Amino acid sequence: MEMKKLVILGSWFAWIRTFYNLQNKGFDITVVDKRDNMLLKPMMPEVAYDGKNIEKTKFDLKSVIEKHGHTFINTWVKIVNPKENTVELENGETLSYDYLFVTTWAYKDFNAVKGLEEFGYSVCDDVHAMKLAKAVENFKWGKIVIGSAKSVWGTRVKCPPFLAPCEGPIGESMFMMDYVLRQKGIREKCTIDVFTPGEIFFEDIWNDVRGAVGWLMWAKWLNLHMAKVTTEVTAKSIKFEDGTELEADMVIMIPVYKWQQFLIDSGLGDEKGFLPTDEQMRHLDYKNVFGAGDINAMTQPKLGHLAMMQADIACSTLMNEITGSGEIKPYTPEVLCIMNMWGGEAGCVYSDIYFRPKDGNDLVWHNNWNVKWKKFLDDYMLNNNGKIPPEIGTASFKWMIKHFGFGKKWS
Ligand SMILES: Cc1cc2nc3c(=O)[nH]c(=O)nc-3n(C[C@H](O)[C@H](O)[C@H](O)COP(=O)(O)OP(=O)(O)OC[C@H]3O[C@@H](n4cnc5c(N)ncnc54)[C@H](O)[C@@H]3O)c2cc1C
Repeated sequence: MEMKKLVILGSWFAWIRTFYNLQNKGFDITVVDKRDNMLLKPMMPEVAYDGKNIEKTKFDLKSVIEKHGHTFINTWVKIVNPKENTVELENGETLSYDYLFVTTWAYKDFNAVKGLEEFGYSVCDDVHAMKLAKAVENFKWGKIVIGSAKSVWGTRVKCPPFLAPCEGPIGESMFMMDYVLRQKGIREKCTIDVFTPGEIFFEDIWNDVRGAVGWLMWAKWLNLHMAKVTTEVTAKSIKFEDGTELEADMVIMIPVYKWQQFLIDSGLGDEKGFLPTDEQMRHLDYKNVFGAGDINAMTQPKLGHLAMMQADIACSTLMNEITGSGEIKPYTPEVLCIMNMWGGEAGCVYSDIYFRPKDGNDLVWHNNWNVKWKKFLDDYMLNNNGKIPPEIGTASFKWMIKHFGFGKKWS
């Protein structure tokens, strides 16, 4: 029987999960990415605030993919022709496909906020994390401002309209920066102000976890400002849409998350350029196109955990279509993450109450050795070329947060 051609376009959590799910299921797989290595982004705060070696946060893509007998092409995607089932690449090649998985990033637009690229810092990728690491190392004392830019989303699919797509790295940045300044012995000479474009900090969780985070922020002298939409970063300040301004010697930001232009040019994006799919991760207009991860219009918040969940659903949908059997997993969005606070301290968050107001959980488990979980997970992914521990690991982790954590829990 002729093998079906499957093309995977870019990404991280979602592509690797798709690849491992389908690599031995009778497909001829081609992965296209303009990066030749996979960066473990949850390690970027450690690069920025603890000088972790960047080489220990990534692995080579080509050898991993070819080891399983599939193809990796290291180039940009130019355009997809979904009516002809082809993808044009920047290197001049045209690929044909039976099935297409779009798992590219939501583009991080550092130029959308004036002055951010020139005067500001970020933990969002390797280049910016290393630039921040240098600045943190050389920081003497002063005013630090940390927050997220406002992003906008399309309306073709129903999803929470969060203004900040992923505030976890903001939480990690404020706590880790506080720890670094205390280690340097200069905390008294510094201020840390934190802002969010949302009406509330951490839009995607609820009051129990927010309350716990708020208490820790108070204890660690972190000042919070809400409904602050950034307009400009200068050498000495950050300016907001409401006319206010904060003095700043260092601004650390999550930039605007944007669409991919090639999806708009290809007629695959919604009105904001994100990929609209149903809850089985199938494109609303093209049956053989699937999408998972940050680029999927449904993904809110933009989390690797949800990217993996979506990749599993997309794969089970496809296998069900081909074999006529197999369970299609339901989409049950939730926040499940470990917020590294440094010095061994970390908070494990499990919250799905936003999505299930009647019977959801809103839990945090904070202690002085939780960071070991994060290290275990990061190292496992790195040493196993992007694989995560078996499903039982996630279930046990949730069980522990439910039993040892603080907040609202439902059985
Ligand atoms: C600092 C930080 C910490 C985080 N920590 C966590 C965490 O602890 N837990 C969690 O669940 N989530 C976490 N997240 C979120 C998580 O990283 C994202 O949800 C996940 O990585 C989704 O993938 P991405 O959009 O980041 O893709 P990326 O990792 O950016 O990958 C996108 C890939 O697509 C490629 N690409 C894009 N466009 C094209 C094109 N046109 N042609 C070819 N290739 C292309 C890029 O080269 C890139 O390799 C964190 C995010 C950040 C920034």
